[in-house]
Amino acid sequence: MNPAADTDLDRALPPQVSVVVPMYDEEAVIGMFVDRLRPVLDDLGQTYEVVVVDDGSRDTTPALLEKARRDWAELRVIRLRANAGHQAALSAGLMRARGAWVATIDADLQDPPETIAAMLEAAREQSADVVYGVRNDRTTDSAFKRLTANAYYRMIRRLVGHHVPADAGDFRLMSRATVDAVNRLPAQNRVLRLVVPALGFPSAQVEYRREERAAGTTKYPLSRMIRLTVDSLTGFSIAPLRLATYFGLGGAAVTALLLAIAVVAFVTDHTLPGWTSTFVVVAAVGTLQLLCLGLLGEYVGRLYTQLQGRPTYHIAYDSVEWDSEQN
Ligand code: UDP
Ligand code: MG
Repeated sequence: MNPAADTDLDRALPPQVSVVVPMYDEEAVIGMFVDRLRPVLDDLGQTYEVVVVDDGSRDTTPALLEKARRDWAELRVIRLRANAGHQAALSAGLMRARGAWVATIDADLQDPPETIAAMLEAAREQSADVVYGVRNDRTTDSAFKRLTANAYYRMIRRLVGHHVPADAGDFRLMSRATVDAVNRLPAQNRVLRLVVPALGFPSAQVEYRREERAAGTTKYPLSRMIRLTVDSLTGFSIAPLRLATYFGLGGAAVTALLLAIAVVAFVTDHTLPGWTSTFVVVAAVGTLQLLCLGLLGEYVGRLYTQLQGRPTYHIAYDSVEWDSEQN
């Protein structure tokens, strides 16, 4: 008989709350983040685990996490072999989180950890499966970030649907049923802030003030913002494809007009000195064709990667498995 059987059983029970935190080269904020998150979770009066997904950091993040783990038993670290990106890191965390409720939060303290308590309360009070963290104040963001974010949410809500909450990023709380539903969907090019509302679970919102990044620099350069936007559009709307049809229809109308003019000019013996107009039309048509081909390519590319079904991340280790092997 194993005298530790009882505690083993306790440990095997899933925690009530999981907090998933993607981290990529976040050595500058880990200390601050842990110091602020821990009291919030300790005060919940519920069992919890913190699932940090180290997204292939190249700085001292792994070492700092190992150190933090030594005096915080609830801290669990999943390390990815290589940088897989914010959304893939979140997906890895959701796949492995065991909690009855799962919150996702950024590591840079832009999302205040205290809000997690408010989210749990909102979920209970409003019987919601999903609680979105909605930014009510972006004054700490740069003018450029505000402008692009505004354009992003307006376009998404117009094309994808108004069930997508504006100004809700990846700070949210989800029930086990919601997380299971997300995990069953294809993981390629996943944009969680659009996938989750599309599942249609009852939801609530909690407003919060978006703080400034506590330390370190953004891991979202312009190129990644563009990638997220393209994935958001091609993953959730076929409106861009229809755009190509409208271009085609518009082009056909213009062509018909030009043809009519040409016929009249020919019949009435007015030949046109038409080099410029020819050049402009050829250039315009060529550009539009390339644009439409590129659009088609985006969709074909999505089908292609999804069909292959390759993993979007590779797990190097999970400290939970590591610990149970040591015992
Ligand atoms: N992140 C990640 N992998 C990446 C890029 C970012 O795990 O390839 C994490 C990052 O460590 C942070 C969160 O995603 O916890 C949001 O990134 P960041 O704060 O840099 O984005 P921003 O707030 O500037 O949009
Ligand atoms: Mg940030």
